[in-house]
Amino acid sequence: MHPTICVLGKKDTGKTGLAERIIATLVNRKIRVAAVKHTTHKLELDTKGTDSYRFQKSGANPVILFSSGRITVYVNDYIKPVSIEDIEKNIIIPVDVVIIEGFSEIVQKDNRVGKIICYTESGQLKDYLNTVKPPILGLYTYNIEGGGVEFSELMKRVEQFIEEFKTVYEFYKLLPRLDCLKCGFNCFEMAEKIYKGERNLTDCPVLSNDTFKIEIKVNGVKLPLKSFPAKIIRNTIIALISTLKQVDENINGKITINIEK
Ligand code: SF4
Repeated sequence: MHPTICVLGKKDTGKTGLAERIIATLVNRKIRVAAVKHTTHKLELDTKGTDSYRFQKSGANPVILFSSGRITVYVNDYIKPVSIEDIEKNIIIPVDVVIIEGFSEIVQKDNRVGKIICYTESGQLKDYLNTVKPPILGLYTYNIEGGGVEFSELMKRVEQFIEEFKTVYEFYKLLPRLDCLKCGFNCFEMAEKIYKGERNLTDCPVLSNDTFKIEIKVNGVKLPLKSFPAKIIRNTIIALISTLKQVDENINGKITINIEK
């Protein structure tokens, strides 16, 4: 997952203008940005009668157009994204940061996404402040004198968020990412605690479970596994299996998984 920042707010509160300024500032600093926008309008991106239009109408899905320095992809019957991961799957070239406008149902409860809330009157903030999960990088308004955060200060927070996210995400990748809450947090919150020095990887009970040994064979040949990845694989499998209905939570014995072609 990339560092992701979402610009939220009601209609006509300056979301697009702000997103545009943030993108331009980041790009100017040589940071590669993907912009993601949700729209309720039905878009027809191609002109009637063109070859790609005809391919689309003949049922091809997707239709991919390569032109000088540009790729355009038309996808029909697209499955509605329900998570940041679903949105990210569509980013097909390497980027450093993702800026999202809209998709508030997906992002507002996701503590991995930095949020900026745009408003034009303070009454609009109440709903957001009650429902949006941190981190909130700032409240932004273009029309209330002295209200909200200055753009330069907002950019400082955006860049700090991007830097911190990268390190937190490295810890997150080392955790089993099961969100089992056995440590009292979800995995990303745990990664943030580790980043702040408030917890260690060994405080994840799934990761530090030493009861089981693991051996993986591919085509009959035993894989050389170092202790740390071995622990992660072993505990992830145990945690996944222990959620299955027929399995006793306290697994005692040997687990055998055979995957054959
Ligand atoms: S116990 Fe480990 S796997 Fe479970 S939520 Fe905490 S960090 Fe994630």
